[in-house]
Amino acid sequence: MECPLRAEAFKEAHSRPAGGRGHQGAKELASGYTQGKRNMEICSLIVSTLMNVLVVAGLLYYWELRHIPGALISTGLGMLLADFLSGLVHWGADTWGSVDIPIIGKAFIRPFREHHIDPTAITRHDYIEANGDNALVTLPILILMVSLMVTQPPDAIINYYYYYTFGLSLTLFITFTNQFHKWSHTYYGLPKWVELLQKAHIILPKAHHRIHHVAPHETYFCITTGWLNYPLEKIRFWTTLEYIIEAVTGHKPRSDDMKWINKR
Ligand SMILES: [Zn+2]
Ligand SMILES: [Zn+2]
Repeated sequence: MECPLRAEAFKEAHSRPAGGRGHQGAKELASGYTQGKRNMEICSLIVSTLMNVLVVAGLLYYWELRHIPGALISTGLGMLLADFLSGLVHWGADTWGSVDIPIIGKAFIRPFREHHIDPTAITRHDYIEANGDNALVTLPILILMVSLMVTQPPDAIINYYYYYTFGLSLTLFITFTNQFHKWSHTYYGLPKWVELLQKAHIILPKAHHRIHHVAPHETYFCITTGWLNYPLEKIRFWTTLEYIIEAVTGHKPRSDDMKWINKR
């Protein structure tokens, strides 16, 4: 789903001076990735992978053919919610806060700033750096699902089967959001099946995500499937939220992002 309203702005963006690896701000932001942060990402990925495997095993154990329609619908709803949450978190980190905020600034806001100045840096991030943060945020949902699965009687698990398929779809699509985002910036060497998923718009397509990379990066924040970008743009969802927040707090949207972009 392309947004025709953005075509002009996209053309204009290509006439702006580019950022990239040589940009002073990009170098500074990239150097903020620490070993401590990487260790946390490795732990999050190991724990989330094990828990996802446990949930899949539980669902397979109780699987029946009659579950197919409900499982498909709940999986689609999980994807939809993951897409919305990706947009909400991306919008929040792009628009508000700063790299200087203690703890979360350097660990969680820094990668968003780096991405606008050097959008291809993400293609050089390995599996751990790309997906560690998202694996961390799925842990509360996974802990809840696994503990319910091991404590509930079989009847209850079967009765709530679609809650589990919804939860599993949500955690998997949240975990791999940044992988899909990375692939949307990767123009060479992608496996054929990834390109097919992008073309079918099951995961974030390349041309679709390019709309977000038009300065000042104020729309198309959803980066899991991108399904919600067009409707949210149509109802001016993000603009309205920003208007309300600015009116209440007096904070200007994207002031920290612009500071880094102008650091040459
Ligand atoms: Zn962004
Ligand atoms: Zn991007």
